[in-house]
Amino acid sequence: MVYGGGKLALYLSRIIRRLNSEAIVYFAGDQKMMPAYDYETEDAMAEGVEVRLLRRITQIKNKSFTLEKLKVEKGKAVGTNEFETIDGDVLIIANRQEADSGFLRSVSGVVINDDGTITIDAQRMTGYEGIFAGGDMLPGENRSSTIAIGHGKKAAKYINGYLMNSPFIKLEKHPTASYRKLHMWYKTEAPQKEQEKQAPVEAVKNFDEIVAGLSEPEARFEAQRCLSCGNCFECDGCFGACPEDAIIKLGVGNRYKFNYNACTGCAVCYEQCPCHAIEMIPEPVNPINDVKK
Ligand SMILES: Cc1cc2nc3c(=O)[nH]c(=O)nc-3n(C[C@H](O)[C@H](O)[C@H](O)COP(=O)(O)OP(=O)(O)OC[C@H]3O[C@@H](n4cnc5c(N)ncnc54)[C@H](O)[C@@H]3O)c2cc1C
Ligand code: SF4
Ligand code: SF4
Repeated sequence: MVYGGGKLALYLSRIIRRLNSEAIVYFAGDQKMMPAYDYETEDAMAEGVEVRLLRRITQIKNKSFTLEKLKVEKGKAVGTNEFETIDGDVLIIANRQEADSGFLRSVSGVVINDDGTITIDAQRMTGYEGIFAGGDMLPGENRSSTIAIGHGKKAAKYINGYLMNSPFIKLEKHPTASYRKLHMWYKTEAPQKEQEKQAPVEAVKNFDEIVAGLSEPEARFEAQRCLSCGNCFECDGCFGACPEDAIIKLGVGNRYKFNYNACTGCAVCYEQCPCHAIEMIPEPVNPINDVKK
């Protein structure tokens, strides 16, 4: 039996199924509280994993486990004082996902919190100069590859600034360009690519990848769905549309500059910019507003 309701519990139980054993996941919450995607629970169940929700272990005697049944009250799982006893050969506790940061204890200045996470400053540096941190070892509820990759991208800018002796200054964020603000003059009718998946009955017989993934050309094609909200992607639309030739092209990757002496404020550029990279603002005394960088 596996105690926990997150990804780790589900994937461990699927490994147990591949080793030809029964696997039952017990979780002290309901499905909504499981820190896993619904499809992960469904895939595990399709492979024969049993998932029993709202159960908390209260006693273990040899291979006999006493579990209290729980109920949800005001969004929290609370005890019911009803118990059941089950037998199991092996109990795997899999209810936490945390970084093993113990090896950093010997590094002076690195602040390790009680839960093993590391404290960093606004430049994403730990208490030891020159050591940066990101990913699962930072405090936070959401631990995912996506977030870890984001941390890596951010840290890389600060690391580069540190090494070049030219600290990275974070640029101000654009105001959010929601879908309603976009002026889409083109639409694509391309259904999302379905990734091939092994049937559960076959998948459980081996340790092969279950979801085939995308080839590089397929991934690039899918990435073209990005609407570039709020970010100029150099479509030349404004450049071609401006009746006053007030938009100056600065070359690939450098976007454009506006010649405000020639600009009449007709808003043609703004109205056709597909991704809302141009804002119309009241004319300042010394206009210096370019396409957002
Ligand atoms: C079962 C499971 C399923 C998951 N599914 C998803 C998912 O579907 N989508 C998603 O986005 N995220 C998922 N995650 C979360 C995701 O895997 C992590 O959030 C992400 O990998 C964190 O990246 P990281 O670089 O911080 O740490 P890690 O990926 O853990 O990388 C840390 C690396 O440091 C190495 N290391 C550790 N100690 C030392 C040391 N002393 N010296 C040298 N090297 C060391 C480790 O070997 C490891 O390679 C899942 C996690 C689990 C456990
Ligand atoms: S607002 Fe100015 S820059 Fe934009 S299209 Fe009109 S004249 Fe050209
Ligand atoms: S500002 Fe808008 S219209 Fe002009 S090039 Fe960039 S994305 Fe295209």
